Amino acid sequence: MTPLFNDDFQELPLKRALAQVMAKREAGAKVVGAYCSYAPVEVVWAMGGVPAVLCAFSNAPIAKAEETLPVNLCPLIKSSFGFIELKTCPFFELTDAVVGETTCDGKKKMFELIQEHRPLYVMDLPQCPTNEGAVAYWRHSVNGFKKFLEGTFATTISDAALEESIRECNRKNRLVEQIFAFGACAPAVITWQELYAVATYAMSAHGPEAIAQLEEIIATLTARREQKLYTSPEGTKRVLITGCPVGGDVLKVLKLVDEEGAAIVGLDSCTGLKPYANVTEEGTGDPLLAIAKRYLQIPCACMTPNTGRFDVLKQQVESLKPDLVIDLVLQSCHTYNVEAVKVESYVREDLGTNYLKVVTDFSQQDLGQLKTRIAAALEMS
Ligand code: SF4
Ligand code: SF4
Repeated sequence: MTPLFNDDFQELPLKRALAQVMAKREAGAKVVGAYCSYAPVEVVWAMGGVPAVLCAFSNAPIAKAEETLPVNLCPLIKSSFGFIELKTCPFFELTDAVVGETTCDGKKKMFELIQEHRPLYVMDLPQCPTNEGAVAYWRHSVNGFKKFLEGTFATTISDAALEESIRECNRKNRLVEQIFAFGACAPAVITWQELYAVATYAMSAHGPEAIAQLEEIIATLTARREQKLYTSPEGTKRVLITGCPVGGDVLKVLKLVDEEGAAIVGLDSCTGLKPYANVTEEGTGDPLLAIAKRYLQIPCACMTPNTGRFDVLKQQVESLKPDLVIDLVLQSCHTYNVEAVKVESYVREDLGTNYLKVVTDFSQQDLGQLKTRIAAALEMS
């Protein structure tokens, strides 16, 4: 079967992303590290920079982080922090500046501890997105980030450059959405490893090169569908993953689904489709407001109410037709953990689909227990 990417990085999406960032840096682009889907990358691209994702999913640096941070903190935060302390995150080492957002408490306080390492801007994110004034306030934060980049790198980011960047990002995001829509094919023509690789690639890819690559992927998937080249046999149980971002050591959960013979057909998280959904309005005359409006629609559990998450789940369940929704919650992520109460009831009662919540960290110690629970949930789906 033709792979989606014709390069040396098969099965190595993070190495591909690193190569993308390094190539752009060597060509003169400033690297702006980001920890969250709320980072408005249109502003970075408009400056001629390149965003690099800094969220880490490795268990290796956690012991180092726990020398400073509380043990009962989300592993994503501990891993990201530990990498910085050890100076072993290749992405962070490439960054010229970092942007953070006031999402969850652990992350926002962690930013205070890393500010000595790089120029850092923390965007104040309103967490009641439908309240009056929220969009206008968030626009101020987006403008603050733009000014921070202009000041840090002695440059100017024009409205015209922002408009162009919005157009390019919209084009790219629509193509990523089209690729994820192949998850609806039954039998499946795309694996979760490929969905994850596309989401990882698109974060640090931009312009005609990105468009050509994503269009090529769509052509490959179209050919697979037409030639009946399936990635799993007919009748395979289908799974949608929702919840916290996943990667690295926490991919253990997704691998266990593979081991049980089921197929993951959708990744509804920030390491999946979430950062590419929604459209930024073009040609409004106020690109910062257009960016602010679009980003405030991201349905993260740090928001209240987070009604958008349920709209997305409905749309994803209706199109992907999963037999089971796995809500993957990282340990000590209170927002996703509490929201799971409503998500479970919505998925079971309103969408009529089986549901399993999994709370885990980056260690391998719960593998046996996870395997049993996933197998039982699939059996009942
Ligand atoms: S889950 Fe929320 S806080 Fe985490 S990266 Fe996504 S949007 Fe940001
Ligand atoms: S997974 Fe939850 S606790 Fe961890 S960084 Fe993301 S929002 Fe914060």
